[in-house]
This record gives sequence, structure tokens and C-alpha cells, in this order.
Amino acid sequence: MKYYLQEVKEVFQEVNSSEEGLSHDEAKKRIKQNGKNKIAEEKKDGIFKKILNSILDPMILMLLVTAAISAIMSAYQGDSFTDVFIILFVVIINTAMGLIQENKAEKAIESLKEMTASTSKVFRDGKIEIIKSEEIVVGDVIVLEAGDIVPADARVIESHSLKVDESALTGESVSIDKVINILNLSKGEQKIPLGDRKNMVYSSSTVVYGRGKAVVTEIGMKTQIGRIAASLQQTKKEQTPLQRKLAELSHTLTKLVLAICIIVFVVSLIKSGNVNINTVIDTTLAAVALAVAAIPEGLPAVVTIILSIGVTSMSKRNALIRKLTAVETLGCTQVICSDKTGTLTQNKMTVQEEYTDNNDLLAKAMALCSDSIIAPGEVFAKGEPTENGLVEYANKLGEPKYELDITFPRVGEIPFDSNRKLMSTIHEEKERYIQYTKGAIEILINRCTYYLKNGDIQPLTEDIKGKILKKNKEFADKALRVLGAAYKEYDEKPIEYKADIMENNLIFIGFVGMLDPCRDEVFEAINRCKQASIRPIMITGDQKDTAVAIAKKLNIIQDEKQAITGQDLEKINDEELLNIVKEVSVYARVQPEHKTRIVKALKFLGYVTAMTGDGVNDAPSIKTADVGIAMGITGTDVTKGASDVVLADDNFASIVNAVEEGRKIYDNIRKVIQFQLSTNMAEVITIFLGTLAGIQILTPAHLLWVNMITDSAPGLSLGMEKAEDDIMSRKPRPSKDSIFSNGAGFDMVLQGILMAALVVLSYFIGVYLENGKFMTIQSLEGMSMAFLTMNFIEMFHAVCMRSQRKSIFTLKSTNWWLIGALIITIIITLIVIYIPFFVTLFNFTTIDLKEFIIAFGLAFAIIPIIEIIKLIERKIIKNKF
Ligand code: ATP
Repeated sequence: MKYYLQEVKEVFQEVNSSEEGLSHDEAKKRIKQNGKNKIAEEKKDGIFKKILNSILDPMILMLLVTAAISAIMSAYQGDSFTDVFIILFVVIINTAMGLIQENKAEKAIESLKEMTASTSKVFRDGKIEIIKSEEIVVGDVIVLEAGDIVPADARVIESHSLKVDESALTGESVSIDKVINILNLSKGEQKIPLGDRKNMVYSSSTVVYGRGKAVVTEIGMKTQIGRIAASLQQTKKEQTPLQRKLAELSHTLTKLVLAICIIVFVVSLIKSGNVNINTVIDTTLAAVALAVAAIPEGLPAVVTIILSIGVTSMSKRNALIRKLTAVETLGCTQVICSDKTGTLTQNKMTVQEEYTDNNDLLAKAMALCSDSIIAPGEVFAKGEPTENGLVEYANKLGEPKYELDITFPRVGEIPFDSNRKLMSTIHEEKERYIQYTKGAIEILINRCTYYLKNGDIQPLTEDIKGKILKKNKEFADKALRVLGAAYKEYDEKPIEYKADIMENNLIFIGFVGMLDPCRDEVFEAINRCKQASIRPIMITGDQKDTAVAIAKKLNIIQDEKQAITGQDLEKINDEELLNIVKEVSVYARVQPEHKTRIVKALKFLGYVTAMTGDGVNDAPSIKTADVGIAMGITGTDVTKGASDVVLADDNFASIVNAVEEGRKIYDNIRKVIQFQLSTNMAEVITIFLGTLAGIQILTPAHLLWVNMITDSAPGLSLGMEKAEDDIMSRKPRPSKDSIFSNGAGFDMVLQGILMAALVVLSYFIGVYLENGKFMTIQSLEGMSMAFLTMNFIEMFHAVCMRSQRKSIFTLKSTNWWLIGALIITIIITLIVIYIPFFVTLFNFTTIDLKEFIIAFGLAFAIIPIIEIIKLIERKIIKNKF
């Protein structure tokens, strides 16, 4: 349908709607009939595909192939199928756990998408409502404002300087002015190219300026973007730096372990003396089991799970993560650049003071030049907070906006934008036309040539200007936002509404001072930042004195010298800026492009920087920042789309909470990695030593069991640790730190060696108990004890890993997950060593109480040993961790 060739009236007929939009019932009916406004998503892998994927893992495949050969040989020779059973059991459990975990991670990511789903303003039952964009139907009348992403294809029915960027569709980056007039085909033309359809807006394009309304003509896959969506559907799975590093580590370790496996294989074959098919299968199985045990292939998955659990807990604290990388980067944040209004303050403006000769006119100008609405009998207005304050102020003075709007209807407007810092509206008044302009005082005053004194229009001299600006400073020093108003009269209705033509030669009326109280929780949040060596920086569109007053109150700065304005920034070059950003923590009267400069300078100096934003022009700075944070309530779709994190409550304190969560998550991931790698190392060392000595300390079946069954629960539960007490009194972690920094690599190796030593010792005590002396011989008793020690040592080691350097006896929190995991591990271990079926399956002998206590005791010994090492380390590296 070529809606752009139709009059608005005809379009309404075509889509069966009207200026008032649709009713709720009608919208529901239309959703039922035509479906939701969604671009069809890629199909997800089914359960079979997922199972197949996990089995097709090279290590698991190798294990299965060896098991198959072993099964054939056992059948042929009439042997038992022990190894085959164990391998199959381990693979099944492992796959099931993997699937459950993957599912959990997917669900968390999905609920994230749900939380950050885009919304639209729509007329339903004659009132503007905010609904999920996917609920939009053909015939809906949508309201478009700067920063909105157009939710569907629609015909424009109202435009106030509406400008739309359609580059997503047309590749043309110049934004298009939208009109309501019908378009005509030129001769010979069948249709007008998309980029020239000035009376249509298309799904996925963004509103960059102005306001307007449009009636929806196409939704979902029928929109222009929907038609080309099929080719855009390959969404890449992004990985965080940590995940990438881990994948690399896995590769390196795989090569290393494979080399060890080959050595073990060759040495075992040589030692066994007689090389036949059975010994080859046995040694292959031993080598493969070792490979499966020692390669931390499950680690990337565990990290993803911890990250996604972290994402959920962050969302509970009002930080909705859009990109997984942000979880890690938040933990390294060194600087938080925050907007003032609404983030540090409550965004509830009330006029406290006024400076004028005619407060009725001031109130009238402020109310008429605002878009907020107030219902009769109400005290509070609805709309943008600054304008709410103004409309409420006028209301109190007996100038209710709903009456003013009828008496002095608005015939034109030049919308507010944060670069100009002004807004104008034109009204019909007794057959004349009056323009009211309101905005930042020092800008407005320079557009005025007259002022009102005792009802007379007087020239605005430099002297008077000085007086006005002095009073303005007085207000600002009290942390008030100052907004001025002026007017101008016309005999004829202006033809074109352009700021540079209309916003000059104005008559100054006066100004108001508005109070926007600080958010209570921000005071503490700023202190927490400082304790955590994070520098909070305030960036605001407001004037310097107001900004300084609020920043001092919040303890962001102590001295006015730490504040600078956007104008000052324009006078200095990028090199000088590098020095400025080190000292200055308040930037006032800033324009969006200054924000990008500030972030770039901070990043250049190596500071990991988080930056907040709400307006459409904030998208570039948010993209440039290490962590781009968009406001969930006041933020525009475009800003949210560019961000890594969306703040559900627009609150600065939530950023600090997210940083804390980020630090905790990284800490926990590091704990899990350390746990996993050092236990793997203990296994490799044990097997390697056994091979060199020509004995089997642990069989392949033992190894698989310990590695794939017993250690998964304690490992994951370490990922659920609560934050350590001092987490927000440490310095931010350098972003380039590796997992092995701060001695973690050393700890891993040392702990691996110590655990292996205890397991080997347990084996030889078994040999002693069996034979009455220590010998290097194959012993069932020794094997059973080594298995027990290895099993328990993993769980005690997990307990030690609750903190890298702190004594576990000083930790205040209790990790119930870990306690649960320990109980499960003990029960499973008791089952396999005491239930006869498993005893034969695992080739154990009966373990008596004395042996059990010794094996258990040796495993337990790892706790005091590691705690003593930690104590020494604490003494050596003071001030760290
Ligand atoms: P912050 O950057 O701290 O969040 P802000 O986003 O409120 O502050 P802007 O919205 O860019 O900053 O406003 C900058 C200045 O523009 C304000 O200080 C005020 O003087 C003026 N201003 C704000 N809102 C309006 C409005 N609706 N009409 C006219 N002028 C306005």
C-alpha cells in the first residue's frame, strides 16, 4: 500500500482508525488477528541438537570411542564392562548437568532481553500510554519524540520539526525532515524511493529532533526493516575478555595435557612390557581419562553461568546488563561520570524562589511554554520534571495550564534541545501572536534586548544584565536550577518556526529557582566510591554554580576549582584536557559532544570509565565509554540501544552497587578457576608420578568420577560466594590483570603440588596398612585410600578457596551452597565406597574405619596447610587483598 500517496484521512480509513487511536479491545483483537509487532527470531537449537553438540566435543568423543572399543574387547574376552559403564554414566551425568546449566544461562539472558525490551507511546482509548513496542498494531497512533526508535512503519499525521535518521534503512546519514502533506509521483514514476517519503516514518529509524505523531500502517515482518531482516538475523554470540582468555588458556592447557598424556601412554606401554591389544586399550583409556580430567574444558561454561547468575543479581539491584562484557568491566571501573539531574538528584523540581516584576506573566509564560499537563483539581503535573515544576508553580499562582491552553492556543513551537538550552512556543492572543521563550538564564539574557519594569518595556542595559546575572548566581549557589522566561509579540502569524530567526530581540520577564533535592542514598554511594578508589564525576547541562553547590553537598568536590564549564572546554585542546580531567570532577553547561571528549581523555589516561546518559545525543559518549550506562526511566531508546547497562531506577547508587557486584563476580570466577585448575593439576601430578613409578594410584574410572561428578558441585558453589567484606575498600582491579596475577598462578601450582603429595601419601599409607611396610607396588588398599583422599581433598580445597588470601575463619558470610555441595559430596563418596555394587565397579577393597579416618584426615590437612601459606603470604604482601 502506498500510504504516502494518500491524505491522512484516507490512511485512517484504510487502517480503520482515527486521530484518537484505537481502544484497548480493538488493539487486543488486532494482535490476535495479525500477531505481534516482532521481527521473527532465529530458531533456537532443540534439545537433541544440544545433546549432540555436547557429545560431539572431541574429548567426550574420544572417551566414547575408547569405551566402545573396550566394550567390544570385553564382550569378546568375556570380561566385565566396568569401565564402559562408568564412562557412560559419567558422560550422561555430565551432559545432563551441562544442559541444565546452559538452559539456566539462556533463561537469564532471555529475561534480560525482556527487561530491556523497547517501549512506545501510543494512544489507547484516547489517552497516551507507554506499551511494549511489540504490542503495537496497525491503526495505532504513536507519539514520537527525540531519542525514540520508530517502532513500526507509520504515516506522519503531526510534525513539530520532526527529524528522523533513517540510515539503518537507507544508509543515508543526513536526517530527514518529516511532513504531513501528501506526496505526488513525478511523471513516469511508479513509486517514490524510501528515503524521499517524507510523510512516512519507518521501523528502526531514530527520531533525532522534534516531536510528532504518526498512524501505524505496517508492523512486524511486513515493515520495511522486517523485509530485509532475514539477512540481518545472524546474531553473534559475544564473549567477554575473560571468556576469551579462558578459551585461550583451555587451548594451551589442552596441548600441554595432551603432551603429558602421550608421555603417560608411551611410558605405561613400555613399563607393561607385553604390548597387546588389551594393554593398548587400557593405556589409551588411562591417557584419555587423564586428558578429560585435566583439561578444564568445562570452565568456560562455568564462567558463563557465574556471569549470568551475576547478571540476574545485578538486575535485582536495578542494573540491567545489556552486554555481558559490562559485568567484568564494571568491576574494574575507576571513574564514574554521572549526569546530575535524576541520577544524583531526585528529578523532582519545585519552584522555590522567583525574580520578576510580574509573577503572573512569568507563571503564564512558563506554563504555556511547557508540555507537561495538569488536570483540574490536581496539584502535581505529568511530563518532564523541569516543566512539571513550572506548570505546578503556575497552577499555584492561579494560572492553570489547562485553562491557559484554551485561552491562548499554541500555534507553533521550537522544541527544547540541550545544545540550545531554550524552548519557544507561539500562541494566539486576541488576534495577535505571542512567543514565549524559556531556558538557561545566561543564554536567554543574551537573546533579550528589553526587560519588563513596573509593566513597562525598558531597554536591557549591561547594568541590568549584570544585576540579573548576580541574582541568578545567588539562586544557583543555593543549588537551585534557574530557568528564565521572555516574550515577543507578532502582528501576523509567523510562517516558519526557526530558532535563529525567532529567538532574539526578546523581552525579559524574569526567572525562577527550582530545587531538585539530592537522592538520599547518593551521599553514601559517593562515600563508597571514594573508599573503593573510584572517582565520581558530575557532568551536567545545568549552570556551574548550581552544579558546584550540589557537588559540594554530595562531597564530590571540596573546592570550586575542581569545576569547569563546557565553554571553558572549548577553549582548550585535547592535550591540555588530559591535565584537566585528572583534577576536575564537575563539568557544567556541558553539551553532549563535550562528554565524548571527556571520556576519550579519561580513557587515554588509562582510566576505566563508566558514563551515564539519557538524551539522544548522549549515544556517542556512551558508546565510547568502557561501560555505557543509560537511564531506564528518562533515557531514550537510542541511548539505551547504545548502552551496556540500563539503570532501572536512574539512580547513581545503583551504579555503585553494580560495581560491587562486578567486583564480586570477578572474584568468584577467579576462585572457581583457581579451584578447578589446582585440582586438575593435583590429578595430573598424581597420575604422572604413578606412571613414572609403574603403578596406578588412581584408575581412569576414579579420575573421571572425581573430575566430572565430585568436583562440579563445590566448584559451582564457589561461584555463589557472597562478596567479601573488604570488596569495596580495595583498589579497582587493573583491567589488564590476568587470572594469574597477584600470585594466583603461584598459589595454583603450589596447591596442586600439595594436594598431589597428600593423595600419594594416602596411597602409600594404604600400601603400608596392606603390607606392613612402604613399597612401590600396586595396591588395592592404596588405590581406595587415594581415591577417598582425592575426593575429600577437592571439597576441603573448595572451602579454602572461599578467599584467596583471607583466613576462612575470619569470613563473616556463610556459603550455604558450598555446605550443600559438601554434604552431597560426602554422601556420594560414602555410596561409592560402601555400596557393594559400586565397590566392585570401582575396584575398591573394603575400607575400615581407621583407613577412612586417615584418608579423610589427610584430605582435611589441606585446610591448615593452605591457611598457614595464606598467613605467610599476607605477611609478605601487605596492602594487597
Ligand atoms: P543533567 O545533565 O545534569 O542531567 P539536564 O539533563 O537536565 O541536566 P539539560 O536537560 O541538558 O540538562 O538542560 C540544560 C539546561 O537547559 C538546564 O539547566 C536549563 O537551563 C535548560 N532547560 C532544561 N529543560 C528545559 C526546558 N524544558 N525548557 C527550557 N529550558 C530547559
